[in-house]
Amino acid sequence: MNNKPDSAGLDNAGTGTRAVWGGEQVRHPYNATQTPIVVSAAYGYDDIDNWYDVALGKAPGFIYSRMSNPTVEILEAKICELEKAASAVAFSSGMAAISSVLYTFLAHGNRVVSTKDSYGGTNKIFEEFLPRMGVEVTLCETFDHEEIEREVAKGCQLLYLETPTNPTLKILDIQRLVSAAKRVGALVVADNTFATPLNQNPLALGVDVVVHSATKFLSGHGDVLGGLVCGAGFLMDKVRHYREINGAALDPFSAYLIIRGMKTLVLRMRQQQHSARALAEFLGSEPLVESVNYPGLPGHPNHAVACAQMRGFGAIVSFVLVGGMDTVKVLLPRLRFAHCAGNLGAVETLYGPARTTSHVENTLEERLALGIGEGLVRVSVGIEDTDDLLDDLKQAFAFVRRSRDEQTPKHTQPSIKEPCTEVAS
Ligand SMILES: *Cc1c(COP(=O)(O)O)cnc(C)c1O
Repeated sequence: MNNKPDSAGLDNAGTGTRAVWGGEQVRHPYNATQTPIVVSAAYGYDDIDNWYDVALGKAPGFIYSRMSNPTVEILEAKICELEKAASAVAFSSGMAAISSVLYTFLAHGNRVVSTKDSYGGTNKIFEEFLPRMGVEVTLCETFDHEEIEREVAKGCQLLYLETPTNPTLKILDIQRLVSAAKRVGALVVADNTFATPLNQNPLALGVDVVVHSATKFLSGHGDVLGGLVCGAGFLMDKVRHYREINGAALDPFSAYLIIRGMKTLVLRMRQQQHSARALAEFLGSEPLVESVNYPGLPGHPNHAVACAQMRGFGAIVSFVLVGGMDTVKVLLPRLRFAHCAGNLGAVETLYGPARTTSHVENTLEERLALGIGEGLVRVSVGIEDTDDLLDDLKQAFAFVRRSRDEQTPKHTQPSIKEPCTEVAS
């Protein structure tokens, strides 16, 4: 079927080319140029012996779509090209992928070390579900690498990393923490959702298993849920076996949408992170902003680590507004080119306070303990023109200033209006 020369592999191709052609270098049925969406639950066999061989994995083919599906397999091959992984397994959401990885590799009596800033859903698995299974979880301060190293050295089976973090954009030194984990024989899992494979390849830095919420930048259009896991073949065989049984398989139509979105990942991300830097720089100069978090800014506390392990700094920026939630409520609804919504990584710009997005599951006290004040806003910068996004933010800040002036109590201002009216009439 594939009559291209052997050298037509993607070994020397760049990320943009891999994103387009990964998993799709063979001719599809009917010579279709686009990935077919194969919706069949089961696959038929006239040769009963061949059916049995396929079922046992001795011959290629498909049996039942909870086990494997042709459209989903193309998506799995595509993420392998982008993360330079040997194998991958797709799930129905990012959380299905993350929870399945944890349940695949952990058992009663094991210990996990991670950080306090992981994604809200992941944090709930650590705080609520794993302890119930008899797994001990230690969550360290995300900025404190010494503490993480100390806790790992005490012995653990799994080290779970997420960098950059949501929503405060902290950076973990992947290679340094992988070294600590290897000394105690722990498996290292990393959530690469925020960085995307364009900017960071954790497997190349020694991580064993990479997880993605494909809902975000990979699919890129905010219209599908999905999760991806990748790593060495023997590890992915275990994860795939878990998915076959727990049933959190990705449906083929969602797989198709993610495949289509991934083809433009590089183009989208280049534009999005170009604008993200411009917005971060502008926010740094805005008096109504107390502080800005973006790993690409030289003032970011882990900027040097970010430069060493990332090729770009991503499209998420967060900032703290003077006046807290009162200012948030005036600024956000005033933006023209933005959804206020609990998602990120889409082509449209998205704004949201931590209270209603990443940390909706947490109480005010828990958020404050994590250093997330009520004025913290996360921006997922979209593909709109950079100048339009800047102008939009500027007009919204101007509106906040006008509203604040109007609210200044009257008796503190010299009252000139009433006498003048009297004279005029
Ligand atoms: C959104 C997100 C997840 C969860 O993914 P879903 O597809 O929503 O289940 C996990 N990790 C990070 C960093 C995320 O942003």
